[in-house]
Amino acid sequence: MASPLALERIVVVGASLAGARAADALRRQGFAGTLDLVGAEKHPPYERPPLSKQILAGVWEFERASVDLPEDFEASWHLGRTATSLDLPSRTVALDDGSALEFDGLVIATGATPRALPGTEGLSNVFTLRTIEDALFLRSAAASAEHVVVIGGGFIGSEVAATLATREVWVTIVDPLPSLMGRVLGDDFGPYFEGLHSGHGVSLRLGVGVVSLESTPDGAVSCCLLSDGSRLACDVVVVGIGVTPATGWLAGSGVALDPADGSVVCDGTCAVLGENGAVLEGIVAAGDVARWDHPLFGRPVRVEHWENAVAMGEAAALRLMAVPGAETGYLDVPLFWSDQFGKKIQFVGLRSPGDEVLLVEGSTEEGKFLAVYSRDRVLTGALGVGRPARIIALRNLIAERATVEAVYSERS
Ligand SMILES: Cc1cc2nc3c(=O)[nH]c(=O)nc-3n(C[C@H](O)[C@H](O)[C@H](O)COP(=O)(O)OP(=O)(O)OC[C@H]3O[C@@H](n4cnc5c(N)ncnc54)[C@H](O)[C@@H]3O)c2cc1C
Repeated sequence: MASPLALERIVVVGASLAGARAADALRRQGFAGTLDLVGAEKHPPYERPPLSKQILAGVWEFERASVDLPEDFEASWHLGRTATSLDLPSRTVALDDGSALEFDGLVIATGATPRALPGTEGLSNVFTLRTIEDALFLRSAAASAEHVVVIGGGFIGSEVAATLATREVWVTIVDPLPSLMGRVLGDDFGPYFEGLHSGHGVSLRLGVGVVSLESTPDGAVSCCLLSDGSRLACDVVVVGIGVTPATGWLAGSGVALDPADGSVVCDGTCAVLGENGAVLEGIVAAGDVARWDHPLFGRPVRVEHWENAVAMGEAAALRLMAVPGAETGYLDVPLFWSDQFGKKIQFVGLRSPGDEVLLVEGSTEEGKFLAVYSRDRVLTGALGVGRPARIIALRNLIAERATVEAVYSERS
């Protein structure tokens, strides 16, 4: 990794949360050289969590969602500009206007884009949700909709359903998995989350998939045909079936991309690896786009949460600046939250199939509880509903590789 003295020009590609936090940390660490921020969106960095919550609900205007940067923050912004390729030998990033930016240091923070449902291209009432434009289009379409079908019962789908149901829109979630949010949380608390949704009027079709869509001659979906032979008439469809790391611009550059999902492969310190497995000097990655060897979990992980974009953006900047300590590894224990029907749902750690799940506080009946996940008694994760302070305590225990017993002794 280049020494801080060799860094005169740093380019950050992806001007959203991870990119902004990295850029801010670079300045706070004393980087006084040229700082270029390249962002495909025309807006300065903004927060995405409100898109499926306050903005979709119509209770926040977009301005409230902006990412905070210091007033004296200085950078050259290239907004509405897309990086089209990276040339490692000349250390340049090419942009879609034909220009190129040279760098000594590079931060890759291009995030991810929603997966589309094949065959829905060009259909006027099918939406994904990633940008402010997506949120505003969906908000406006849902305002006059009779029935919204959400394809995908993960976090984004469940939040969209909860927000729209609160606006008294009839919503149905369809997912081939048996449990709502089961991919991340497992099946144990599926009945609780399903009860929460159905109790607020959301219809659930779990364990069935969408096999095809019927559309009108003017190109709008009118009906979803499900794998059990049933039909759902609808006038808006929201697709929430996951995201793909935005790394098309890195294809063929020599940066190692994970063969499964195309994410940028990093070592345990946010340093980007080349195709030969060696660290690429002066190049780091952060946020949804990056996969790194997690020193605590002992395996490569990619995390699509707000908190990781913030923490990893900062860690990547420190690594680039060779700040002492940064080389020991990026150890953040993943944490995310979701707001649905007034409930604060939080998960820390990483769940794997087969983890033991134990309810340690509260109950699903009272709608406030804490459950821990473990493997061979060592804590791997914790799920809290309405338990924010406890989740932070659990996060520390997971970082210490504590056992389930420590949860009880910590409370006594
Ligand atoms: C609707 C929604 C709700 C969410 N709610 C929560 C929540 O409640 N809790 C939680 O923990 N997390 C939540 N998240 C996840 C969280 O917002 C993301 O993890 C976070 O935004 C990731 O930040 P990022 O900077 O890595 O990537 P992104 O936010 O995806 O930003 C990447 C940026 O790079 C730009 N870009 C891509 N390719 C290029 C290119 N070639 N050249 C230039 N620019 C490029 C993109 O346009 C984008 O602006 C939510 C996400 C969404 C979409």
